[in-house]
Amino acid sequence: MNNKVQSLYIHIPFCTHLCDYCDFPKLQYFRNFAEKYIESLIKEIESYKIKNLKTIYIGGGTPTALDDDLFEKLLLYLAKYIKTVKEYTIEANPESLTNSKLLIAKKYAVNRISIGVETTNNKILKTINRQHTFEDVKTAIINARNNGFDNLNVDLIIGLPHVNKAQFKEDLNNLVTLGIEHISCYSLTVHPNTVFGIKGIEEPTDSFARDLYDYAESFLKEKGFVHYEISNWAKSGRESLHNLTYWKDEQYYGVGLGAAGYINGIRYKNTRNLDKYLSGNYIDEKEIVDKKDDRTYFIMLNLRTIYGIDLAEFKEKFDENLLLTKHDEISALVKDKLLVHDRENDRIYPTYEGMMVLDQIIMQLIEE
Ligand code: SF4
Repeated sequence: MNNKVQSLYIHIPFCTHLCDYCDFPKLQYFRNFAEKYIESLIKEIESYKIKNLKTIYIGGGTPTALDDDLFEKLLLYLAKYIKTVKEYTIEANPESLTNSKLLIAKKYAVNRISIGVETTNNKILKTINRQHTFEDVKTAIINARNNGFDNLNVDLIIGLPHVNKAQFKEDLNNLVTLGIEHISCYSLTVHPNTVFGIKGIEEPTDSFARDLYDYAESFLKEKGFVHYEISNWAKSGRESLHNLTYWKDEQYYGVGLGAAGYINGIRYKNTRNLDKYLSGNYIDEKEIVDKKDDRTYFIMLNLRTIYGIDLAEFKEKFDENLLLTKHDEISALVKDKLLVHDRENDRIYPTYEGMMVLDQIIMQLIEE
């Protein structure tokens, strides 16, 4: 196992409002809690003796919900890690990505911003309890550009109530017209403990979600984006290095309320209980990843991207020639145009069709 841990995920759980569909670890923003939280977070990061990071990702919640001085306190603390960092992302909601936040982010070398847009229809945004409008998105993107940010992601949700195909087309077109470098489209999951769950809102059907993914695939390709992971498209060279850490099954530190991490062969989840977290009881669950689980994770995660499985790396890691042990399965999947065997680069990777039925492919390859 590659024991180098070069990525750090930091969770800021505060939001100024709570969206009806959201199941992330999050809390209403109160300054006194946020002050204590930042102190505890810094102690948790210190406990890992981190060195030589390649990526930092501050997600949430809403990192930009923090007051400017707390936001700066965190970024100032992190400044000691940034020398080796190639990609440094913050997540933001359009309405809280203010000019002062952008100035602070720039000052401390943040070089990527991920903006939660979800849809560009103002009426629908209101019905799901988002606080921003499409005009806020445009302003946030223009301000980010004016402050020198040239690597922007936007998130859309597939299957929100009232977002039909025509609206989805408009959403994609609106965002691409704004010149973003990266776009994530995740299909709506309804969790029972959310307002959506309580209201009985249904998830999109497979055929509707597929229709929208098909549209995104052709539209974004035509606009010069590479579909490099099931739900992610990027302009060439703007793929998310941090998220690729997860998809390549590499290890990462995860700090903050409810954050997950993977260090020294152990996958862990932090507590979602703020009192526990503030008292320094960070980790709630640990999973020791044995060889069999490691093999499963490796297959499952690497096949999410167009880079797929590096067969030499697989052989070295698991002492197994996958082309031999799964010869029949791989041959059939290649014949059905769900997988490609790239002999030159010694890889197998999914086609677009393969990505759409990835669970079936994974099931065939993980069975020993
Ligand atoms: S979707 Fe984002 S802004 Fe909305 S409640 Fe969840 S974490 Fe907060």
